[in-house]
Amino acid sequence: MFFFKLFLLFSFFSFTFSHDIETQFHKFDEELKLQCTSWRFSVEANNLSPWKTIPEKCLGYVKDYMTGRGYKLDLERVSDEAGVYAKSLELSGDGKDVWIFDIDETLLSNLPYYVEHGNGLEIFDPIEFDKWVQMGMAPAIEPSLKLYEKLLDSGFKVFLLTGRSEKHRSITIENLTKAGFRTWHKLILRDPEHHGKLATVFKSEKRGEMVEAGYRILGNSGDQWSDLLGAAPSRRSFKLPNPMYYIP
Ligand SMILES: [Mg+2]
Repeated sequence: MFFFKLFLLFSFFSFTFSHDIETQFHKFDEELKLQCTSWRFSVEANNLSPWKTIPEKCLGYVKDYMTGRGYKLDLERVSDEAGVYAKSLELSGDGKDVWIFDIDETLLSNLPYYVEHGNGLEIFDPIEFDKWVQMGMAPAIEPSLKLYEKLLDSGFKVFLLTGRSEKHRSITIENLTKAGFRTWHKLILRDPEHHGKLATVFKSEKRGEMVEAGYRILGNSGDQWSDLLGAAPSRRSFKLPNPMYYIP
């Protein structure tokens, strides 16, 4: 009887102890998730800038977000809302109504590359990233492709404005075509004259040229604030999610 009581006492304490540990772990997990969500919010709202890499403690969080339902849902939301806005517009019919798209993390996804490179925890390596770009295997961001098709069908002139270098023109066209982007009015890449310029400056200049040529920029989709801010802004801008990297 004595041993039986001892056994019960021991079981009770070990149960309570492991239950306590489990509760503590759960609390810790919840707190970490909240902190990383708060960090992601400040990234998306452009309150946190500039930043170089994701916080180390948020590696698992960012990976789960990017490869799970969260990222997909957010992409769908942006695409749907942009579509609602586009539908509300009455186009002039003179071929001057423009929608601008950025390419990387807007039309094409480099997620396969980033998953292999720390989901934004590694410092950006332009040589390694170039190798990935040269493969021309980036898949389409499906909700963006859906929006893209809608805009073409409604008569928008689509301009692609990217920070990719002019030397990547042919592989970019090959990749876009393979991913399902069938046509565009103009693909603007960085020529050597624009190397070294901040994306905000380069993209503002290019938008300025469009306005000078008589185009009306009605919509602009990009995953970086530097795609959207600056001179000659679009009437409305749509920010796609990207908690993996920041381009000024
Ligand atoms: Mg981009």
